[in-house]
Amino acid sequence: MTKNNVHIKHEGASKGIAIGKAHVLTAIGAGFPKYWITDREITSEIMRLKSAIQKSKQQLAKVKEKLCRFEGKEQIQIIDTHSMLIQDEMLVTHAIQNITSRKINAEWALEKVISRLKMAFIDMHDQYFQQRKHDLDYIYQRIMKNLVGSPELSLHEIKENNLILVANDFSPADIVSLPRERVKGFITAVGGNASHSAIIARSLEIPAMVGVEGILKQVQENDLVVIDALRGLIIIKPSKEELERYKKQQTAFEKANKELLKDARLPAVTKDGKRMELVANIELAEEVIPAIQHGAEGVGLFRTEYLYANRMDYPSEEEQFECYKAALEQMEGRPVTIRTLDLGGDKLFAGGEYADHVNPALGLRAVRFCLVEKDIFRTQLRAMLRASIYGNLRMLLPMISGLDELLQVKSVIEGVRNDLKKEKVKVSEKIELGIMIEIPSAVIVADALAKEVDFFSIGTNDLIQYALAVDRTNEHVSYLFNPLNPAIISLIKQTAEAAKKAGIDVTICGEVAGDPLYLLLFLGLGIDALSMNPVSIPRVKKMLREVTLKEAKELVSKVNSFDSIAKIEGLIKNETAKYLKIFEHPKSAKP
Ligand code: PEP
Ligand code: MG
Repeated sequence: MTKNNVHIKHEGASKGIAIGKAHVLTAIGAGFPKYWITDREITSEIMRLKSAIQKSKQQLAKVKEKLCRFEGKEQIQIIDTHSMLIQDEMLVTHAIQNITSRKINAEWALEKVISRLKMAFIDMHDQYFQQRKHDLDYIYQRIMKNLVGSPELSLHEIKENNLILVANDFSPADIVSLPRERVKGFITAVGGNASHSAIIARSLEIPAMVGVEGILKQVQENDLVVIDALRGLIIIKPSKEELERYKKQQTAFEKANKELLKDARLPAVTKDGKRMELVANIELAEEVIPAIQHGAEGVGLFRTEYLYANRMDYPSEEEQFECYKAALEQMEGRPVTIRTLDLGGDKLFAGGEYADHVNPALGLRAVRFCLVEKDIFRTQLRAMLRASIYGNLRMLLPMISGLDELLQVKSVIEGVRNDLKKEKVKVSEKIELGIMIEIPSAVIVADALAKEVDFFSIGTNDLIQYALAVDRTNEHVSYLFNPLNPAIISLIKQTAEAAKKAGIDVTICGEVAGDPLYLLLFLGLGIDALSMNPVSIPRVKKMLREVTLKEAKELVSKVNSFDSIAKIEGLIKNETAKYLKIFEHPKSAKP
């Protein structure tokens, strides 16, 4: 039993207050155990594997039975393929061999076999083999779930209301598919505030805490839980008074947000007349209208990778075309910056065979993946270029590390443009091309890069990760993840200077863009636009309209004279305090 009234201090990843009953999902993303076994354990380990395979076969047969009643032929064929793969002689024999000769547990043995089988398909670009890799991933997950004895991942089947989900981790794809009307908030044991799971939680306005170590031991199924992601507190089994107080605060927070929305569409301009464009980061085309309602003057970052999430295949050209067209049309001529695929790192999708590497963040991610999987890339580019005639499309390339890579990508884009021209498909003549500045090497050669593009967009989430060697998803090093590190400020400054010299615009689109604490700094550094989670726009705009460019420049010259994070942080907090007061809630809790 959990003790009564446990308080855990932890910084909120997605602001807000959530109250609900805990639903603990111990197995999701928990990783599987890897261990050596003794000779005596070999037989029982083989038995465990065989019974997990048997169970998987039975589950698939049941799924097929349901499909026969409701679905088409294609799905049934897929299930048949999965059943065949599960029984595949090579898979079973090799896994058993691994257990016997390497003396490793069944989970580990299975992982090794699947990786080997997938390697065989890795260089084959034929669609059939691509699909087989996805099939292998799927059956791997199914057998693994049966081995570790975890329940099926069925978030969409949750029936109860007012739940706080507690899990080791959620993938961004899990969060996108959370049933919002039932799930009020979530807590994970691992992860950092710049992880993609945290980003998605913010854009969906789900109060969340990530990286709360030991949470799975402290909270139990059905415990009443309060997430206070405003002041950074989790309360398990709150007292009656606490519960009442939090209910009131939740209402007050929602009311304050509504108030802020009233002024959201006023011009984004400082008191002394300096305009700063405030645009939105979105993950789905459906977010365009809410973004406009929150005062966005356009889309500064459309993370297209979420089109690829929660599925076993890749989205077709037509599906993507419709999605980009919808976003462009709804923005009615305002800029829509669509970023080409940034798969990899911590935002993998079902069936991602490039995930099996020790350092995915340093691996085949974003444009690197696109330059290998050129057909997937071309499909996306065709969809984007075709959609370009429906609005003001700006194309953004992620993870550019240097000039040669940029030129390579540009030539693929040109090739696709020429193909479309030959096919007499209309494409807008005026599509701006920009790159994410998120790898330190790109900052170093920013002058050369600036000559090749129309705009820069600084991705501080990754820039901080790569410059400071701080894994953005690792809670143990998140204390180092600080945009006020003088090294980071200097990288932003160099980028802004290179952009100015070349006469191109520079945006910041990392998570820090939405935090009013950094607004004066970015303004003073000469940043032209901030792209953020739409819900953050009203706050940042309100503050922007209170400040002057003059004071921002003065602040930056003081910051430049400091070389310690503590001093810079102290200075900025001090200078910003009077503005941040606006957002304080009248009856704040003193837990
Ligand atoms: C970034 O790295 O700052 C960024 C905006 O891109 P993403 O978070 O999608 O990696
Ligand atoms: Mg990035």
